Amino acid sequence: MSDPLALKEVYPHPPVVHNIRRSCLESLAQAYRSKNHKKPNSAASHAEFIIATKARNANEYKIAASKQIAAIKKGEPVKAPPRPVQHRAPQDENQHITALKSLIHSLDELKKADYTIDMPGENSEDDDFQSCQRCGEYFSISKPHNECKYHRGKRTKVAERIVYSCCGRNAYSGDTYPCTTFHTHVYERTTPSSLHKVLPFVETEPSSNKLAVLALDCEMAYTSLGKEVTQLSVVNYFTEKLILNVYVKPQGEVWDYVTLYSGVREEDMVNAISLDKARRKLFQLLSPETIIIGHGLENDLNAMRLIHLSVVDTALLYPHRRGPPYKESLKTLSKKYLNKDIQTGEHDPAEDARASLQLVKRSVKLRLSGIRTIV
Ligand SMILES: [Zn+2]
Ligand SMILES: [Zn+2]
Repeated sequence: MSDPLALKEVYPHPPVVHNIRRSCLESLAQAYRSKNHKKPNSAASHAEFIIATKARNANEYKIAASKQIAAIKKGEPVKAPPRPVQHRAPQDENQHITALKSLIHSLDELKKADYTIDMPGENSEDDDFQSCQRCGEYFSISKPHNECKYHRGKRTKVAERIVYSCCGRNAYSGDTYPCTTFHTHVYERTTPSSLHKVLPFVETEPSSNKLAVLALDCEMAYTSLGKEVTQLSVVNYFTEKLILNVYVKPQGEVWDYVTLYSGVREEDMVNAISLDKARRKLFQLLSPETIIIGHGLENDLNAMRLIHLSVVDTALLYPHRRGPPYKESLKTLSKKYLNKDIQTGEHDPAEDARASLQLVKRSVKLRLSGIRTIV
């Protein structure tokens, strides 16, 4: 029967040095042996791991260890670690947040992933000509209303043939004529300075007493200014409840609400507020230190024109096996790791925000249990 005596890895770091842990581990194993425990070493390794994970400093570690050793010698039942409950005690939340903080991306990572990390400079480029995001044709954004022919779906491999998922037409034959027609071309601004030129960025305002972490997702429309936010949803990380849900009125002329995916319609704009007002509502919930969770969050933050650097992005946390620029979709990750089907019809931003925060919770739990592998 295997019964290894081993120290388990504690994340982010144990409260005492290795030698102290080792000597505590041996005392625990000795105590279990004196009580004829069947697997004294495994039991000691587990008990030490729990103590090292829960203790916030060396003193707490030492007190907990000697209590535990005394309890084993007295033959008292060893307390099982508390199970996670819906409303965690603040101490557990703190521990969770400490592990979560270790997942925050570096500025380099954010920059590579097209996040806007500092205030963009002036841009005097003439950008009237843009390439259509759907058909690739160059068009003047002051005269966008030309017929756009394109494939709605993606190229995908079916039985050794590359076909369009929308219509099944072979992508590499004479049969590639686009299946979809729309009354206008559409475009997206991508560089920080080109985004800043039409709608300026703002930085998250400092404040106290704000949430430590939240999840966010936006829906967007194509407008004369590029891509603009039409809906903003924010979900509480711990309770997973929707805490902010607003429709946002684009400042440009709306060309396509992309209702099929976004679920947002023109009639929703009756209750819409301005982007500035939506951001002010968001600022009531966060400070620059608040961790924002999302999937491909650079799109949401750039559309919100928000510079926020404390981010955990599930597209970066769960990278595509082929590496960037490939990204796993939130739908794929949800199915694979949460066994959940999302985005079966129109997107619900709250559902998407919940899926990405559940993926982050999964990573945090793996870290807290000492397992470093994320995916
Ligand atoms: Zn097609
Ligand atoms: Zn087009």
